[in-house]
Amino acid sequence: MSDITYLKRLFKAYYKEKRSEIPSLSSFDHREFGFIPWDKQIFMKRHMSFKIQERFLELLISEGPRHIYSSGAIYKQPENQDMEGKGYQGCDFIIDIDVDHFYTPCKADHDFWYCKECGESGVGMIHTCPNCKKLKIKTLAWICDRCLETAKQEIIKLIYNFLIPDFGINLSNMKIAFSGHRGYHLKIESQQIRNLTSNERREIADYIAGENISLEILGLQMKGGNILRFSGDTYGWAQKIIGKTLELLKNTDLEIKDLLSNKEKFNFSNNYVKSFLNSKQDFINKIENHNSLILPSIEGFGLVNWKKFFIGIVHEVGVEIDTPVTIDIHRLIRYPGSLHGKTGFKTQEIFPDELDDFNPLDEVNKKLDPIVFESKVETTQKLEILEKRVPATKIKGKTFGPYKQGEKIEVPHHIAVFLLCKEVAKTI
Ligand SMILES: [Zn+2]
Ligand SMILES: [Zn+2]
Repeated sequence: MSDITYLKRLFKAYYKEKRSEIPSLSSFDHREFGFIPWDKQIFMKRHMSFKIQERFLELLISEGPRHIYSSGAIYKQPENQDMEGKGYQGCDFIIDIDVDHFYTPCKADHDFWYCKECGESGVGMIHTCPNCKKLKIKTLAWICDRCLETAKQEIIKLIYNFLIPDFGINLSNMKIAFSGHRGYHLKIESQQIRNLTSNERREIADYIAGENISLEILGLQMKGGNILRFSGDTYGWAQKIIGKTLELLKNTDLEIKDLLSNKEKFNFSNNYVKSFLNSKQDFINKIENHNSLILPSIEGFGLVNWKKFFIGIVHEVGVEIDTPVTIDIHRLIRYPGSLHGKTGFKTQEIFPDELDDFNPLDEVNKKLDPIVFESKVETTQKLEILEKRVPATKIKGKTFGPYKQGEKIEVPHHIAVFLLCKEVAKTI
């Protein structure tokens, strides 16, 4: 039996066993569905619809697709092949947070890339090949508890710093899910939000991400030889920036130094960091004394560096969202409760109050555990590694690997499923 046939059989058996636990969706019969099968010849079967969820579940059991998606949009005729003919009725508001799209320091340990153009290879996240500047990059992006914790903190920021205070969205209208790979998505279901146009969605996405913020409009200016900041007493971004600045200033000098000199973040040279730290207490006093908007005079800090500092703060406050997902009203998103074909993990729905304790790669609450292929009695499988180098995988507190091409290994069932889904190993 080929590994693909094996995985497909596992997925089918999973859907058969968990049939009653697969959640439904609101307006189920008005959603468009899409499957990616295991057969690589077919990219995606979309424009499907189901009158009742039973039919959908039967298809999962009989086909065990590799990936399963449904639309955020609701349509009069979701099965219509022509987008115009679907009869668009509105779309849930969807926010995707995926570490594929933003910097985390640990990627240097577990993400590898290879340039198909010039053969250069390396670690971490890149957009173009640093050698030939081309875009033909093959990446091996790995799961990691630190990355997932960062993504979770972004979701928490999104909810409690933006959606609730600035948009008045109710927790009860939010649906959160771990994607089954490297991120989370959040869906807002409410009639008002369903009617937003793509452009309106972009405006909200930009606001949440802190894109295109004008510090001058907020009030950053040079006046009579002093540089004035904006007041943090108002709502929205000015308040968030000043609040975050104060939070940063109350860290230890070493923590501030690490952040300000980080090339992916503030990127200040050591001299600037040093003079900034000398004025730290003065800066705190000035913010806490609400009467003064004058920024402390720091050696080397003119308007340019102050802007650079506050833009750095904006990036700390803003949420790392994948904007194209939010603005595309016809996008299909991973179905809750379905299996992710690149990991074999479950796309797990979580209530907002469960988020704090949720730990996808080592979850203690069985009902929320995305690692569904862990067997009760430990069974192992023998595999041979196909990929040049495979990073270490830490699941349920145990680390497997790193591995090299050609290595023969024996690992527990759920780890074998993960490595097979990742296509970095084959059974032997
Ligand atoms: Zn290259
Ligand atoms: Zn990581």
